Amino acid sequence: MRVAVIGAGPAGLVAAIALARAGHEVVVVDRDGGPVGGQPWRRMGVMQFHHPHVFRAMAGNLLRERLPDVLAAVLAAGVEPYRPEGAPAVATILRARRETFEHPLWSVARAEPNLAVRQGYADGVVLDGRRVTGVALGGTILHADLVVDATGRSGRLAGELRPPAEGGDSGLANAARVYRLRPGAPLGPVNAALGFVAGYDSYTLIVFVHDAGTFSPLILRRRADRALAVLRHTAAFEAAMAANPATAAWTDPERAEPVGPVRVGTNLFNRYRRQPVGVTGLLSIGDSVCATSPAGGRGVSLAIASALALADTVTDAPDDPAGWAPRLDHWCTAHIRPWYRDSVLDDRGRAGGPVDPAAAAALPGDASHLRVPRSGTGARAADPRRWLATAATRGPEPGAAARRDRVGRGAPGAGQGGPRRSVTPGAVPPRPRLPGSCADHGR
Ligand SMILES: Cc1cc2nc3c(=O)[nH]c(=O)nc-3n(C[C@H](O)[C@H](O)[C@H](O)COP(=O)(O)OP(=O)(O)OC[C@H]3O[C@@H](n4cnc5c(N)ncnc54)[C@H](O)[C@@H]3O)c2cc1C
Repeated sequence: MRVAVIGAGPAGLVAAIALARAGHEVVVVDRDGGPVGGQPWRRMGVMQFHHPHVFRAMAGNLLRERLPDVLAAVLAAGVEPYRPEGAPAVATILRARRETFEHPLWSVARAEPNLAVRQGYADGVVLDGRRVTGVALGGTILHADLVVDATGRSGRLAGELRPPAEGGDSGLANAARVYRLRPGAPLGPVNAALGFVAGYDSYTLIVFVHDAGTFSPLILRRRADRALAVLRHTAAFEAAMAANPATAAWTDPERAEPVGPVRVGTNLFNRYRRQPVGVTGLLSIGDSVCATSPAGGRGVSLAIASALALADTVTDAPDDPAGWAPRLDHWCTAHIRPWYRDSVLDDRGRAGGPVDPAAAAALPGDASHLRVPRSGTGARAADPRRWLATAATRGPEPGAAARRDRVGRGAPGAGQGGPRRSVTPGAVPPRPRLPGSCADHGR
């Protein structure tokens, strides 16, 4: 079968590799040309590419189980596995910059037989009646028996063939900057698997530990706290870092230097979209199905899970293209949508809105932090269980082939998610004092 995958993010590349290995002829198309050795990678089409990422245990576990050579390539590229002390192996998260994680995915895809990666922009799908037969690329048509929409949170491919999305603004915004430790300098204070986390009334302070001595302090704030919008300015961001004892220790010029600008994320939303209806030959995965705000670091794991589910759906029923979208839709409803709900409720709590404990109780394992009473000391944000859960599967069983259940298999559910406390939470430092105005408007 000829497959055109539109979008070479984690979802598109994982789906493409899995489909090529299942014997299909796969072409991946992305508007970005991909990494070129030794040159900085600007990465078109993914606004969050240079924002701090951490990769939940789910991502590594799925790759280990289904594409172990891809995980090996990711680790060889410098992505650092981190297992909290005393935690089971399945609780191992991956720490790296997004670039370090994604680069090897492109390398594996480029070397894969049956798989070609092309630069181009897909203007839309080509229809023959109710059957999708390819994609329009500039003035040409790429013919395909299956088109995979892996176009991410901003993708517009064939949106008219999808039911209306649910979701909306998260009420949150963030500002972050990447630093590199000076040679021989130790890490700053850590109190969580991903680095350091402290919660305050209207914002959360996080330090992401990445690869190769890099790390990113980030302030995730309620957008309603407009005073913190000033953090987009370099001087204000640096002042905030210096004012907080924990981040001051991390960003002390003797210890580290910034290696990029302050980056802000303001358009942070949660959105869930079902599969295309009324047509065959078109399936959606990754952020195109479920875009979650970054607060919980769910996106790449869910992208990988849905990509593998798509490959299974197609491989399990090669002669039933009309059944692919309903089956994948069913799987996503059971296995992905709970994470969307988790993110909505999580953000609502962070943004200061009410959270119904009964609604939270029905969510995936690590959403249990929503049931932890807020102590005002950042306990909710720092709860290490947030980073341990690996299953997207606490909803109803999809009743589909056992094969599809391979996605997320072997993961601990609630109560099995590893130690309740992986590290000793540090004291929560006081809220940083910010300058009221800022002369640096250079970013
Ligand atoms: C600020 C921020 C921080 C985040 N932090 C984390 C985190 O810590 N951990 C985590 O797991 N997730 C995080 N996420 C989510 C994560 O980045 C996404 O879930 C992930 O990128 C989804 O992968 P994807 O392959 O579905 O889409 P993308 O990575 O967005 O890839 C889509 C690709 O499609 C291409 N494309 C789109 N339209 C077309 C077209 N018409 N023709 C050709 N190419 C096209 C784009 O160029 C792009 O390469 C974060 C998100 C944000 C916004």
